[in-house]
Amino acid sequence: MSHLHKTTSSSPAALLTTAPPMPAPHPVSVRSRSAAHSTAFGRPRDFLGNRFIYLTVSARARGLSVGVNLNPDRLCNFDCAYCDVDRRLPLPEQTLDVDAMAEELQHTLDLVISGRIHDHPAYRSLPRELLVLRHVALSGDGEPTLCPNFSDAVEAVVHVRARGTFPFFKIVLLTNATGLDTPAVDLSLKLLTDADEIWAKLDAGTQSFMDRVNNPQVPLKHILANILTLGRQRPVIIQSMFLALNGQGPTTDELAEYLARLNELKSAGAHIPLVQVYSPTRPMARAECGHLPLKNLSDIAKLIRSSTGLPAEVF
Ligand code: SF4
Repeated sequence: MSHLHKTTSSSPAALLTTAPPMPAPHPVSVRSRSAAHSTAFGRPRDFLGNRFIYLTVSARARGLSVGVNLNPDRLCNFDCAYCDVDRRLPLPEQTLDVDAMAEELQHTLDLVISGRIHDHPAYRSLPRELLVLRHVALSGDGEPTLCPNFSDAVEAVVHVRARGTFPFFKIVLLTNATGLDTPAVDLSLKLLTDADEIWAKLDAGTQSFMDRVNNPQVPLKHILANILTLGRQRPVIIQSMFLALNGQGPTTDELAEYLARLNELKSAGAHIPLVQVYSPTRPMARAECGHLPLKNLSDIAKLIRSSTGLPAEVF
């Protein structure tokens, strides 16, 4: 089977049918990108001594993201090949203490918005534009919608914002979309404004490929139905992780199926303002997983734009 590769044609057919195998992971272009990221985007999450709130400099956020770890228990119903959460380590926290989280959020926002974060040794050398708060992310070491007190947590974050102590900040939910149809999650999402965003993971177009990449406990069909239902109510940004598995990127057939799923979502009425295309930048625990070179990611984004008409960006 052929694979996506470097081509001068922007035609999806040419891109899909003429490509030889994906290059092995970590070519020169990948190393140089990682080196640049190591100064900012490649750095690990920084909890600053907090239990639930962390800082990350995120390419997809285009700067500083304050994250809420809704899964201190590391609970997830996916087992992604690229997951960087080490579930063998002892748990520092078992459950999310919403009151403590809200207090930490206040302090962390104060640190960031006051600019005092610049005085912190770990951030002193970073460009100031990277330290502007871009959003508060509901995310974590697992699937946030599985958090038993998800509703309380969303309410608490919305409440911190509503107090008006800080300038308005955007809230972003990062989710694998499996729990979007649960009543508590559905109700909680109604607390979000139009300025807030939902980023839903979609890494595959077929169940078999999803099984390889995400090893999910929920079928692809269910996930697509959830994205469609929510996408008919409010915009849903799709985030798609592409990686080299045993040195091979996604096959032409798999990419065609992935594009077909995007087209189906779009034609059924899902509002997808953006597809984020990216590849893991942090080291992956599984030896078979590698970063996909920037050129391949760019080709995939080009394909998405030309085959679906959806905006797509590489991060
Ligand atoms: S959905 Fe996220 S937390 Fe869950 S296994 Fe995948 S990468 Fe890890």
